[in-house]
Amino acid sequence: MSRIYNFCAGPAALPLEALQEAQAHLVDYKGSGMSVMEMSHRGKEYDAIHNEAAANVRELMGLGDDYSVLFIQGGASLQFAMIPMNFLGQGQVADYVNSGSWSAAAVKQARIIGNANLAADTQKEIPTRMPSAAEMTWTPGAAYSHLTTNETIAGTQLKDIPETGSPLVADMSSDILSRPRDYARFSLVYAGAQKNLGPSGLALVVIRKDFAAKGSITLPTMLKYQTYIDDNSLYNTPPCFGIYMLCLTTRWMKKMGLPKLFAQNRDKAQLIYDAIDGGSGFYRGTAQKESRSDMNVTFRLPTEELETLFIKQASEAGMKQLKGHRSVGGIRASIYNAFPVAGVEALVSFMKDFEKRNG
Ligand SMILES: *Cc1c(COP(=O)(O)O)cnc(C)c1O
Repeated sequence: MSRIYNFCAGPAALPLEALQEAQAHLVDYKGSGMSVMEMSHRGKEYDAIHNEAAANVRELMGLGDDYSVLFIQGGASLQFAMIPMNFLGQGQVADYVNSGSWSAAAVKQARIIGNANLAADTQKEIPTRMPSAAEMTWTPGAAYSHLTTNETIAGTQLKDIPETGSPLVADMSSDILSRPRDYARFSLVYAGAQKNLGPSGLALVVIRKDFAAKGSITLPTMLKYQTYIDDNSLYNTPPCFGIYMLCLTTRWMKKMGLPKLFAQNRDKAQLIYDAIDGGSGFYRGTAQKESRSDMNVTFRLPTEELETLFIKQASEAGMKQLKGHRSVGGIRASIYNAFPVAGVEALVSFMKDFEKRNG
C-alpha cells in the first residue's frame, strides 16, 4: 500500500483508520453477508450506523435534544438554496457576511429567493481577510444571519463568532469540528461532508427544532427541513455509504478527543505559517495574519513559473494537490482534521529546500 500526502481541498483526505475499517467490512458488513452499499436503509444494521452517526455528531458538538442532526443530499450547495427557501419569506431580510467565494455563492442563491443584505463585504479584497465584528452591520428583525466560518479558497477563517441579533446560520463546510466553537449559539450549521467528515454528496445539517418549525410550509417535501426532522433523514433513501463513512470518521474523532485534535490542527497550520514568515520573503501568505485559516493555508511564490515548478516537484515528492483554486492561483495546502502531521512536516521541509534552490 502506498498513500500520498493529499492536500486536496475537497474531497479531502480521510482518516486511514476509517478507510481501513470500511475496507475490512466492505463485502460483508459484520456477518450480514452484504456491503453497507447493498443493504436496506430500513434494516437493523443500517439503522444502527445511521443513529450512531447522528449521536456522534451531537456528542462532538455538545448539543442537546433541542437540536436535530440531519443528513441531506446535494452537498453544501443545496443548503445555499434550502436555507432561504425555508426561512427567507416575502418582506423579510436575511443578513449575509460576504467574506469570499463561498459566501458569495450563498448570497447568489439567497437573492434568487428573496432579500439578502450584505452585513459586511470583504469578498474582493487582497490580501484576503474576514471582516471584523465592528465592521458588520445587522438588520434589526432579520430572518437570520449567515456566516461562512472558513473561506476554503481564500484561506481565511472567522475566529470569533459575532453577536448578530438574529438566528445564526453558518456554512462550516471546511472547518466543522476542527476548533473549539460554541455550537449551541447557532440555529443552523451545515457542512458538505467532503472536507472534514466523509465523502462528497452528503451535507450534515444541525438545526434547532424551534427554528426549523418557523420554516415555510409551502415547499415540496424534499426541500423542507421539517421532513428530515420528522423522518430522521429517512424520508427517502439517504446516501447510506456516505453516512457510514461519516460515522467512522466521527468515531475516529471521538477516540482522538477534540482537545487533541484542535491542538494538532493549530500546530499543523502554525508549522506552515512559520515556514512562510520565517523565510526571506520568498513565500507570501495571501491572507491577512489575523484571518489565517488553520484548514487551508494559501500562499504565493515570486513568480507563476516558480509556483508551477513548486507544484510539480512537490507532486514528484509525494505531496499532491497543492495547486490553489483555479480562480485565484498560487499554492493551497488543505490540512483538515484527518491530514497527518507527518505530511505537514514533509511540506515544510520541502518548502525550505525549494527556497534554498530557487530563492
Ligand atoms: C466546498 C465548499 C462548499 C461547496 O460544497 P459542495 O458540497 O460541493 O456543494 C460550500 N462552502 C464551503 C465553505 C466549501 O468549502
